[in-house]
Amino acid sequence: MNDDIIYFDNASTTKPYGEVVDILNTYSSKYFFNPSSVYIQSQNVKKTIEDARKKLSKIINCSKDEIFFTSGGTESNNWAIKGIANKYKFKGNHIITSKIEHHSLLNCCKYLEKSGFKVTFLDVDKNGLVDIDQLKNSITDETILVSIIFANNEIGTIQDIAQIGKICKQNNVIFHTDAVQAFGHLNIDVKSFNIDLLSVSGHKFGGPKGIGFLYKSKNIQLENLLEGGGQEKNRRSGTENVAGILGLVKAAEISYTDLDKKNEYIRDLRDYCISRIIDEIEHCRLNGDRINRLPNNINISFEFIEGESLVLNLNKYNICCSTGSSCSSNTLDPSHVLLAIGLNHELSHGSLRITLNTDNNRGQVDFFIDKLKNIVNKLRELSPLYEDHKNK
Ligand SMILES: *Cc1c(COP(=O)(O)O)cnc(C)c1O
Repeated sequence: MNDDIIYFDNASTTKPYGEVVDILNTYSSKYFFNPSSVYIQSQNVKKTIEDARKKLSKIINCSKDEIFFTSGGTESNNWAIKGIANKYKFKGNHIITSKIEHHSLLNCCKYLEKSGFKVTFLDVDKNGLVDIDQLKNSITDETILVSIIFANNEIGTIQDIAQIGKICKQNNVIFHTDAVQAFGHLNIDVKSFNIDLLSVSGHKFGGPKGIGFLYKSKNIQLENLLEGGGQEKNRRSGTENVAGILGLVKAAEISYTDLDKKNEYIRDLRDYCISRIIDEIEHCRLNGDRINRLPNNINISFEFIEGESLVLNLNKYNICCSTGSSCSSNTLDPSHVLLAIGLNHELSHGSLRITLNTDNNRGQVDFFIDKLKNIVNKLRELSPLYEDHKNK
């Protein structure tokens, strides 16, 4: 990756911190030992992992025995949803989630529907906030699990997780949240939010890819997803990804150092970018909640153009950003999240997602907006839809 790129796609993945890359190097070469072996070299590695687990548990206010390392967000979501469904099916067959979950979660629910589970997909309002009354009214005696995304990866909307947790607790229903976009970016306290299960992925906050964790409260049970040699206290088999685990924990420590100050910087930059786009480009709108929003997320729909063309044209200037979500960008389907907040097909195809981090600055935003304005004008001139609009 060359240095002169402008990287505005941090919701899809982040550049690992230098310290993280150093750890990956050291623990892949010098300390490559299998933590399960009995010799001292392995036992030292094992101890390092347990120390790291302890540090992680303090960040989300749980005990170290409640953290289980996985291969990332997708595995953590699969494990939580399928593991609860299979463990608690004797109690009921109903699961509640939302229409704006990540595909890894939505597709688990669709998979369970095929084997007899009933799933309620809650609506969201025009800003992407879950309908709390609908949640309360959907809970029945059969409901075993509620799973709601903490902060959305496309539009950045942050849910009222504390309130949802409280409702679940009052109704004695297990609560899982996909916190992949939230961890490392927002303060999370699983105890005060009444969260029973929480999914995290390393590469969304400056850690490595292919490593994540699932927090599971000791008060609930969970069926295993992977059987094997009994690592992670017999709950998640497979030789530990030592370098990945230590890299993830290092990234978490760095992310949570001066978090408020860093978020203030990113929020300022975000708001500057949003106002310039809205003020200087006609026929566009911000998607997602203006206030309850990830500090780094910008999602804007431009009428009469395709988000895909915007992304490709911006890339000619070494700018990296995204349409809707990177996972759906290799399909032609409009984003399920943008449809859920009420956008029509045209507007959901014309969306651009810019996700910032502390490496970005105003100079980059100014350069980007300068190019964006030209590209939008050029594409609209070529657009028959825009032609029709002008003639109206
Ligand atoms: C990226 C992402 C995932 C998937 O995480 P991986 O580690 O890439 O499998 C799940 N949920 C959300 C909200 C995400 O942004």
